[in-house]
Amino acid sequence: MKRVAKTLKNKVSFEGVGIHTGEVAKITLHPTEGRGIFFYKEGVFIPAFHDYVVGTTLGTDLGVEGKIVKTVEHLMAAFYIAGVDSAVVEVERGNEIPILDGSALLFFEAIEEAGTVEVGYWRTLKIKYYRKIVPNGIFTEIKPFDGEKFVFEGEFPFVGRKRVEYLGKVDKKLLAARTFCRLEDVESLRRAGFGQGGTYINTMVLDENLESLVYSDEPAYHKLLDLIGDLSLLGVRIEGEIYSFRGGHFLNHKVREYLKNQYGIKPFPAPRRV
Ligand code: ZN
Repeated sequence: MKRVAKTLKNKVSFEGVGIHTGEVAKITLHPTEGRGIFFYKEGVFIPAFHDYVVGTTLGTDLGVEGKIVKTVEHLMAAFYIAGVDSAVVEVERGNEIPILDGSALLFFEAIEEAGTVEVGYWRTLKIKYYRKIVPNGIFTEIKPFDGEKFVFEGEFPFVGRKRVEYLGKVDKKLLAARTFCRLEDVESLRRAGFGQGGTYINTMVLDENLESLVYSDEPAYHKLLDLIGDLSLLGVRIEGEIYSFRGGHFLNHKVREYLKNQYGIKPFPAPRRV
């Protein structure tokens, strides 16, 4: 499975609040002469790669040499779905990627508007062996499959059981699915220092009215978006099926760890300059 890989044609910036820190963040996506996606903060390149994941609580955080970039998964999913495997994300202000509307749609649309340039082909990871990863009741199955397939299935409060999938094509429902939480969890999350930037604009709150949902499988699509963004931290296109049953960032981390070790995936070398 050969798939064209791209970088950006022009740079594009975003400014907005971080969902967890609540601080204003500014980032600029730059074209790159090298390969791979790298975050760049105060003179340090942070590879968008599994080995540099420093947190998986309610988001995926990357870091190196004390420089941290939090909540990278929605931007990473937008890159993946847009076919971009090479770019530099300069973090000019704050320690977190702006949450924007809680989905990946605005990142995706801005990438399309900035334009893309072909840089070769994606590296491909062809799944050869069946594997089930079960940390605690939830699980992910990794299966050989002729094509690219990510599936998320789960139970949601008031919404019920949902199953959604991504087959490698641009899908508006997937891109536009927003971050969500349960109403009863809002207070405890805030007390624990999370969700300081959460609002009714960037977060669906699941309660019995379900008024904040745009479509009934929006929460399931958001979990699928997180899965894609998290697994994109291998810098490869997956040829096979990843089936997640109720998995979140921690399970996605375990899946990535297995794939990286089983298939010997390495990060791209850092670019020389932004
Ligand atoms: Zn998310």
